[in-house]
Amino acid sequence: MSLDTAVTTPFPNVYDAESIPAGARSEIDRLLQSGDLFRYTAPADAPVALLEHEFAALMGSKYALAVSSCSAALFLSLKALGLQPGARVLIPAFTFAAVPSSIVHAGCTPVLCEVGENYRIDVDHFRDLMGQNIEAVMISHMRGHTSDMDAIVAEANARGIPVIEDAAHSLGTTWDGRNIGTIGKIGCFSFQSYKMVNAGEGGILISDDADVMAQAIIMSGAYEHNWRKHGVDAALEAAFARWQNQLPLYNLRLGNLSAAVIRPQLPELARRVRDGRRNHDHVADQLNLSPWIDVPAKLEPEVRAPDSIQFNLVGMNDAEIAAYADAAAARGVKVQVFGASKDNARAFWNWQFLKDLPELPRTRAMLMKACDVRLPARLSLAECDMIADALVRAAQDVMGNVRAFA
Ligand SMILES: *Cc1c(COP(=O)(O)O)cnc(C)c1O
Repeated sequence: MSLDTAVTTPFPNVYDAESIPAGARSEIDRLLQSGDLFRYTAPADAPVALLEHEFAALMGSKYALAVSSCSAALFLSLKALGLQPGARVLIPAFTFAAVPSSIVHAGCTPVLCEVGENYRIDVDHFRDLMGQNIEAVMISHMRGHTSDMDAIVAEANARGIPVIEDAAHSLGTTWDGRNIGTIGKIGCFSFQSYKMVNAGEGGILISDDADVMAQAIIMSGAYEHNWRKHGVDAALEAAFARWQNQLPLYNLRLGNLSAAVIRPQLPELARRVRDGRRNHDHVADQLNLSPWIDVPAKLEPEVRAPDSIQFNLVGMNDAEIAAYADAAAARGVKVQVFGASKDNARAFWNWQFLKDLPELPRTRAMLMKACDVRLPARLSLAECDMIADALVRAAQDVMGNVRAFA
């Protein structure tokens, strides 16, 4: 591609974050004045504890535990389920490398399940694998795409296998009216900067299970009787009595400064979700008019909360797919084809820290043509139009000007 097709109008910068609500400043100032940055210093109502209460209420879960990242939450989930070394944990083969990494870190073995062209778990392969000594299921709702949770939960319940939801990128998504992250036994979320709520780093784990939660709280670093500062009810109290002094401390706590950055963003969530969905659907409608682009449909029960868009290139060979990414870049939009680079952390064959990496032809075929474009909620529809237009024209640059409805 030559660059003479590039437009000169500046494109919206899709990497800039939304500014943190001004309300965070006074609280951060107060914390800087007092130096009270550790969650367990204050006798009660530390910002981290308040965040946990607010997040649990927002999600409609009984308990929440704020930690240093979603990866830490996933790791603690596996430990709190009491999985033994070598336990086989099913994950979708389309996810971020941190997810199988959390399983390796917990001493367990990731088992990769095929993912279809719509970025969701292949339910037939899932059912096959569930008959093969699986001890836990970790459903990664990758890029916020929700797999068939009815089928997954039915199969897991029938076999008595716990489900952990990696909802890192799904905050605000619902399935059949239920919040994603509350459908499995444990839900894990991320506050890393590319997610709906941005604290730079951070994560949170939710559950209604007192025994799981007591263990996760202790292992996150509630040494001695610091668990008393977690708003303890009778069920938790009994669980803490069972687990006191029985568990290692991994110290994956969140600090008060991060909580002070997160809390004023929670009331912004509904707006971000609404605008993110509006932007996504607006761009998806335009992309789907191109004969070279397909935005897969969501599953019927899902109401999404996207901050990016994924789409498949149709009828292009590998050279044309590479040319497409170049053409989009020349028009101002950075498109990542998941499977195209040597180091993409979302392409399972790059997880070479895993022994005996399986071959998963369906997932591989999808990753070789699936494109990833950031689409933050703060963009206006006019900015979304610029992005959609560039993405459609880039396909025409490569494939020729074919009429969409020819
Ligand atoms: C971001 C992300 C993670 C990791 O979250 P961290 O907070 O960075 O550890 C895990 N899974 C998915 C699907 C993600 O998008």
